[in-house]
Amino acid sequence: AKNCGKNNAKLYSSGLTTQIMSHVKLEVGLRRALQNDELYLQYQPQVDVRSTRLVGVEALVRWRHPEHGIIPPNDFIPLAEETGLIVPIGAWVLRTACGQARAWHQQCGRAVRVAVNLSARQFKDENLAQTVLSVLNDTGLDPRLLELELTEGTLMDDALATLATLEQLRAIGVYLSIDDFGTGYSSMNYLKRFDVRALKIDKSFISGLPQDSENAAITRAIIAMAHGLKMAVVAEGVETDEQLALLEQYGCDMAQGYLLGRPSAQEAIAQMLQGALAA
Ligand code: C2E
Ligand code: CA
Ligand code: CA
Ligand code: CA
Repeated sequence: AKNCGKNNAKLYSSGLTTQIMSHVKLEVGLRRALQNDELYLQYQPQVDVRSTRLVGVEALVRWRHPEHGIIPPNDFIPLAEETGLIVPIGAWVLRTACGQARAWHQQCGRAVRVAVNLSARQFKDENLAQTVLSVLNDTGLDPRLLELELTEGTLMDDALATLATLEQLRAIGVYLSIDDFGTGYSSMNYLKRFDVRALKIDKSFISGLPQDSENAAITRAIIAMAHGLKMAVVAEGVETDEQLALLEQYGCDMAQGYLLGRPSAQEAIAQMLQGALAA
């Protein structure tokens, strides 16, 4: 018991060192990941609720680490944000996703919208509009086929700067949506002023449906509000037929989730697009 304090301090400091070490290693690895082509995208279908027709896909980044295998975005996007690496990584995601959407259109003869997640740091980057413009130019993708997903936190952070950036993006003609809606703090006043086309209801509200009556009430309220503001609604995390049926009953426009398709390689999306054409 005499050495207890000392031992604790030692344990604590060695734990901290390990944490910092792996953090630094992760950062070094992430810096190299882009150069070494270790990042890749998967695409998750977004479907029309009534027809279950494919209307778009969301691009989701993964890291194929040479030693640790496949690392999911939640394990490296926060670090990328912290270090600023999200700016070049985000630009790569944007370019790859837009190039892919254009290629699907050419190969399969059907336009498909591609959604890209924008982090707060990217949204604050003064070159954002220029980056988006040059990517659209270089890939030849119709701006209306690019969806940018922003979170409530990103939008509410600095209202004046946000309005200016949103106006730039709106002028380019891209499709703007609010991701994880309901989990952050939105000012209804700003929601009215932002020229946003769609709200994505966070999967935490969908997962309890149809049993959870509180989440059902929230889901219906978000749909009613969005439609009142002339926005479309996407439900995230749809996993069961019952959830899809309920969402159709509530008038939800689009759905995304394992029931409708897991995040997949581009080839699988191309097959869906070709299949839909043949049907
Ligand atoms: P998100 O934008 O909310 O993306 C949806 C997440 O939910 C994805 O996880 C997806 O695989 C998962 N998901 C989809 N359908 C279902 C379902 O039916 N049930 C359940 N339980 N989960 C489902 P993922 O791919 O691991 O991505 C996690 C988060 O990482 C994303 O959440 C997004 O915030 C971030 N992220 C992914 N790619 C990028 C990127 O390129 N840039 C940035 N800034 N963030 C990204
Ligand atoms: Ca998203
Ligand atoms: Ca989301
Ligand atoms: Ca999320």
